[in-house]
Amino acid sequence: MPSARTLDGREIEVSPEALAGLQMRLRGPLLLPGDADYEASRSVWNAMIDRRPAAVARCLGSADVIAGVQFAREHGLLLCIKGGGHNIAGLAVADGALMLDLSLMRGVWVDPRARIARAQAGCLLGDVDRETQVHGLAAVLGFISLTGIAGLTLGGGFGYLTRRWGWTSDNVVGMDLVTADARLVRASEDENPDLFWGLRGGGGNFGVVTGIDYALHPLGPEVVGGLVAWPASAAPEVLELYRTLAETAPPELTLVALMRRAPPAPWLPKEVHGQPIVAILACYSGPPAEGERLVAPIKAFGKPVGDVLLRRPYVQMQALLDATQPKGRRYYWKSEYLPRIEPALCAKVIEHAAKIRSPHAAAILFQIAGALNERPDAHSPVGNRDARYVINLTGAWEAAVDDAANVAWAREAWQDVRVFSTGGNYINFLTEDEGRERVEAALGPGLARLAEVKAAWDPLNVFRVNRNIEPT
Ligand SMILES: Cc1cc2nc3c(=O)[nH]c(=O)nc-3n(C[C@H](O)[C@H](O)[C@H](O)COP(=O)(O)OP(=O)(O)OC[C@H]3O[C@@H](n4cnc5c(N)ncnc54)[C@H](O)[C@@H]3O)c2cc1C
Repeated sequence: MPSARTLDGREIEVSPEALAGLQMRLRGPLLLPGDADYEASRSVWNAMIDRRPAAVARCLGSADVIAGVQFAREHGLLLCIKGGGHNIAGLAVADGALMLDLSLMRGVWVDPRARIARAQAGCLLGDVDRETQVHGLAAVLGFISLTGIAGLTLGGGFGYLTRRWGWTSDNVVGMDLVTADARLVRASEDENPDLFWGLRGGGGNFGVVTGIDYALHPLGPEVVGGLVAWPASAAPEVLELYRTLAETAPPELTLVALMRRAPPAPWLPKEVHGQPIVAILACYSGPPAEGERLVAPIKAFGKPVGDVLLRRPYVQMQALLDATQPKGRRYYWKSEYLPRIEPALCAKVIEHAAKIRSPHAAAILFQIAGALNERPDAHSPVGNRDARYVINLTGAWEAAVDDAANVAWAREAWQDVRVFSTGGNYINFLTEDEGRERVEAALGPGLARLAEVKAAWDPLNVFRVNRNIEPT
């Protein structure tokens, strides 16, 4: 084992005997640098992140997590936790830490009568969709099926069903968690309600979540969903269409607008590939016939260069964008919550989209208005109950030599659209270089209460490789 980092910042050696002891306490494998799978375990979605934990415990269940936390406590080691590894800031991995990699814990059990799914914390979104759709049910999750449920849910979570049922975290009925003193506890409205409150937006600050129970909703198997794209020259009219349709759309319909260069997708003609486009992404999750009626104005608008907005299985819809966000590219995002879409904002989006040089970058407007606005701010720390849209300026490129130009694009565009913000932002979209001020904007008034929950459950700040809340 290379030298490991302690909680108080020292470098220490952990003896081979101690490591052998840890392996004996684990059911899953313990990986050290040089072992097969170590590189895969330490790597995360964003190739900008390149960190090397001292060791990786690939946990198979809560007992392994308990063993890992106990070992870290005995040796004073820094701990990090990996779910789906999708966090853009790379919060799953830290140099010199003992990593608890939960990516082998992907079981899902559905109780169709109670309409609850119990998912192990290493699940990706697609794992839960696949099992819940067997019963004609769905959880409120995100747009890319390869994202981890744990990081997404602990930070809030939004997707195509958010307009109907709120943040992902609003739909959690309970979680199992291994605490800093290595106990397995339950968090729900009835058990440890303060912890349950904190977990719905406070990230991985309170322990290692090993299971999440989601309330499910009847849905599918078909939705009306997909994209229609036009040349970027049509953007003023298309974004105006988006703006007006979104204002009156029922909660079953979620509309997303985006501008980027056309990917080499089979549904777009070859001559369009690489050219700037504007697109509307829609998903109607109610009766398909009604969905077809509601999306007809989008399909009939202007002269699209591509149209794959049609009836399709919900599970397919949930994975529709996966290929656009592969693991291993370099990514840098800037985002804000918006109270509305204003014409002046659309003009700024068009202006900055025209400056995109990378074939993978995009300016995206997500619609989230609906159920989340109906709960009080204090319901959970995810807050931001005034958010009706999200803008995300998603820098994405291949080579390190292009880092500065792509980061600059996202930052410059963001400087220009910030004035349209609610003042809040999505904590799960914050990049590595965004600090305390942005976290405060993301968590707002919930931060003080989060610090109290932190003090009660993790007074020594064992769980600090995250958007850290200092105990008070
Ligand atoms: C391509 C892409 C698409 C996305 N789409 C959406 C979307 O549609 N909607 C949305 O809301 N968000 C979306 N996100 C953001 C996403 O919610 C965050 O990136 C989230 O952190 C991912 O969770 P993860 O488990 O994959 O992350 P990881 O990188 O594994 O972990 C993120 C953080 O959570 C902590 N953590 C992970 N597992 C646990 C656990 N079991 N217990 C305690 N702490 C844990 C980690 O320690 C780390 O601090 C997207 C991100 C990407 C990269």
